[in-house]
Amino acid sequence: MQMKDSAALVVFSGGQDSTTCLFWALKNFKEVHTITFSYGQKHSQEIEVARRIAMKAGVDFFLQDASFISQIGTSSLTDSSITMDDEKPEGGFPNTFVPGRNMFFLSVAAVYAREHGIHHLVTGVSQTDFSGYPDCRDGFIKSMNLTINLAMDEQFVIHTPLMWLDKAETWALADQLGVLDLVRYETLTCYNGIQGEGCGHCPACRLRAAGLKKYLESRK
Ligand code: ZN
Repeated sequence: MQMKDSAALVVFSGGQDSTTCLFWALKNFKEVHTITFSYGQKHSQEIEVARRIAMKAGVDFFLQDASFISQIGTSSLTDSSITMDDEKPEGGFPNTFVPGRNMFFLSVAAVYAREHGIHHLVTGVSQTDFSGYPDCRDGFIKSMNLTINLAMDEQFVIHTPLMWLDKAETWALADQLGVLDLVRYETLTCYNGIQGEGCGHCPACRLRAAGLKKYLESRK
């Protein structure tokens, strides 16, 4: 399967990681589409940020409702009454974990891709960084890839360009792709819903800022 001749669907949130993946896909595929999920995230401006970046990148933007995810599971990212974990608890993962999120996202994305004759899916998951979310790990992605192929008798390929990169290396990739400033100022990763450099103190901001600092220092 030739990548450069093919189309890819990027699971897109408008954050640092999936935006970097979007531009990675634009470099590696002839045609790129995005799918963004509305899953009850507290900061619905995420969706507008995603829409704006997709427009800027000149790619197709599709918004899919997945609000059932926050109705059946509990997470501090979707429920305002839960105080967000600042640190990763001993032997577990933080309550920012949204149970089933990537499983649902990839299942739905695969069906959408199939309808559009697309066989390449791109997701910005990484198992290198701290969170330890089980559905960001390589083993899960490989299993999910096999599952969606068996479910629809198709040959999908799930691409995870960030799987083995830390945050500094993700910034380096954005820079190589010529979108360091776009990712830095126009994406939304902050758990408090502040675009660009964010609130500066939530776990997502701290991770993102530490990675950027490390990358910018390495470049000197
Ligand atoms: Zn923040």
